[in-house]
Amino acid sequence: MKVSLLAHTPEPERLVVAAALLCYQKGGPEAAYEKAGKEKLRARLFEELVRQGHGSTLEHPSFTFGIEGISRACSHQLVRHRICAYNQQSQRYVDVGDPQYFVKPESLEGDGGRFEEVIAESVGYYRDIVEQFRGEGKTAEQAQEDARYVLPNATMTNLIWTTNLRNLLHVCRVRMCSRAQWEIRRLLHGCRRAMEPKFPVIAKYMVVKCHPNAMGYCDEEFRSCGFRPLREKVVAADADCPPGPGYWEEVTE
Ligand SMILES: Cc1cc2nc3c(=O)[nH]c(=O)nc-3n(C[C@H](O)[C@H](O)[C@H](O)COP(=O)(O)OP(=O)(O)OC[C@H]3O[C@@H](n4cnc5c(N)ncnc54)[C@H](O)[C@@H]3O)c2cc1C
Repeated sequence: MKVSLLAHTPEPERLVVAAALLCYQKGGPEAAYEKAGKEKLRARLFEELVRQGHGSTLEHPSFTFGIEGISRACSHQLVRHRICAYNQQSQRYVDVGDPQYFVKPESLEGDGGRFEEVIAESVGYYRDIVEQFRGEGKTAEQAQEDARYVLPNATMTNLIWTTNLRNLLHVCRVRMCSRAQWEIRRLLHGCRRAMEPKFPVIAKYMVVKCHPNAMGYCDEEFRSCGFRPLREKVVAADADCPPGPGYWEEVTE
């Protein structure tokens, strides 16, 4: 698997801060963007906005990742996140019938070559179908589009994925969790590593939901890995804390 940061909004943190400043000041957007250019202010406000969850400001910057050599099983999980843009290698236009073009999970390393046997059988059948259809005068695309039905979930694929910052953090929160599968977790860790050199502050918040830089507790009531405290425990620990003045008062007209 290879993950790279292909493109991004030029100054993502500045844009987020400008969007927030615009909300609270009389000046226009250009003035807000100018002000957000001040290093000290930007550094302080950006993290505050991420932590307090002022989500709409995080929707302005976007990031484009190149994702190479993941399985179709993994890409199917990724594309369930809908508030993004994707392009994925086509199995109609690209001949993927190659025994090297598969992702083997580490858990199957000791299977005595059974995985490779199954892949070789699928690829062999794929090649037969392509050859037969081509012999019948069909185009490569027509041959491949039906031959691909015999390929397994392990088949490799490549994608270009563009997401805004709000969604990027959300996907990290749910897909870096130990309840998600190893491959998509690895993919999101790859995205974080690709972000780190240019955007270390953003990378700091590309974490699983129970991390102190996100919620800080686990909401997986029945399937928690037990590493972080459950939500109930955090809420219960806080139960004695009295609300501030007027906090829970009923509002009457
Ligand atoms: C550990 C794990 C296991 C999973 N297992 C399964 C599984 O077994 N089967 C399965 O089908 N899926 C499974 N999923 C996928 C899951 O159901 C979601 O499809 C996926 O996580 C994307 O949903 P999302 O809310 O994160 O993102 P998106 O669908 O991209 O939505 C992003 C956000 O936009 C808002 N939103 C989007 N659409 C609507 C809407 N129609 N109405 C209101 N608000 C909306 C919500 O706030 C949502 O969180 C699993 C996901 C995880 C993380």
